[in-house]
Amino acid sequence: MTAELGTKSGTVKSPPDIYSRFAAFTAADDLIAAGLYPYFQALQSGEGSTVRAGGRDLVMCGSNNYLGLTGDPRVLAAARGATERYGSSSTGSRFLNGNTELHEELEAELAAFLGKPAALVMSTGYQTNLGVLAALLTPRDYVLIDHDAHASLVDGCRLSGARMRKFPHNDAAGLRRVLERLPDDAGRLVVVDGVYSMEGDICDLPAVTRVCEEYGARLLVDDAHGLGVLAGGRGTAAHFGLTDRVDLITVTFSKSLASLGGAVLGSREAIHYLKHNARSLMFSASMTPSNTASALAALRILRAEPELPATALANADHVRLGLTRAGVLAGESSTPIIPLPTAGATDTIRIWQRLVQRGVYVNPVLPPAASPRLRTSYTAAHTVTQLDRVVDAFAAEVAPHQRALRPAASTSVA
Ligand code: PMP
Repeated sequence: MTAELGTKSGTVKSPPDIYSRFAAFTAADDLIAAGLYPYFQALQSGEGSTVRAGGRDLVMCGSNNYLGLTGDPRVLAAARGATERYGSSSTGSRFLNGNTELHEELEAELAAFLGKPAALVMSTGYQTNLGVLAALLTPRDYVLIDHDAHASLVDGCRLSGARMRKFPHNDAAGLRRVLERLPDDAGRLVVVDGVYSMEGDICDLPAVTRVCEEYGARLLVDDAHGLGVLAGGRGTAAHFGLTDRVDLITVTFSKSLASLGGAVLGSREAIHYLKHNARSLMFSASMTPSNTASALAALRILRAEPELPATALANADHVRLGLTRAGVLAGESSTPIIPLPTAGATDTIRIWQRLVQRGVYVNPVLPPAASPRLRTSYTAAHTVTQLDRVVDAFAAEVAPHQRALRPAASTSVA
């Protein structure tokens, strides 16, 4: 490229080439060169209680398939049936040509199950959070968001242009301190996760709803990891008996409901507004017939079989007990997500590799996503034998490494 460009008024220095950042980005190549790259694993099977990866069958402790329904014959039959009937794609937005009776059935059944007046389904959970926040908030508003809230919530707040304030993780007193300082004449929305995806801890919703009500703030709870898990699958608000005091609940179908898609639930008024203002809904193709039918089938199974969420929780409790006995440090969670704190990026990846060799698949998580840890998760599909094997692997590979963390002797990774 030439150093100078001609313009009508003479010459200017050439602008920096935005493509130069490709060469400057070396983090992934460095890991590949060191034989430590853990991402984009090309799985060779579906994700049940086991998964095939790198030619090995591994116990799967890295999925969000909490109810184990991704391979359920009833879900697969529903997906096949919808594809036969409605085709492989809607080819457009729900707003115009992509709405089917299946989308509306899913909305009605989801709203009834979660105890909210109305629901609106979108193509992913990420798009749901983006669309809802950007449609609801203006740059004149304040949005108060938990420090550890999911990236899709952060991105939605940014897209909205609202003034964003983070408050300390799961700290209603910290939220109150931020709210106290806001001008009286500005709209405010509080944004939290129901169950935090990296910690597995549950939002202190009783305290958060109280503070929101005291300071006139609306409340949005992203219950991606609470749906299908807490309160017989009805989620975090139901777990605390607070469904009526949470203004908006967003969910995803990519975890317990064994599909792809998302939804927002709230008052009829709110949903009507979002239906006509959420750009990620209006300008993106709708959930495919197969995804919509899978989510609907999974929801019906969940409704009919409340023992599924109970089994997922009991399986995680079994692992927690095993970890305590084996001296493995774990984050303080009471959900199917159990983080195992680690120290340092390279060590985390090396342990992840050794766990794969022992037949266990977990997720290595590194900063800036969160402090280093192995994010592990358990489902209704795991057997006790599999879980015991997993605990043995953690005792052998994770516990010795955690000695470096013990002087701080915290069991919390938050
Ligand atoms: N919210 C939370 C808390 C999540 O964990 C995720 C997915 N990891 C999402 C939203 C996005 O959901 P989806 O995969 O449907 O885009």
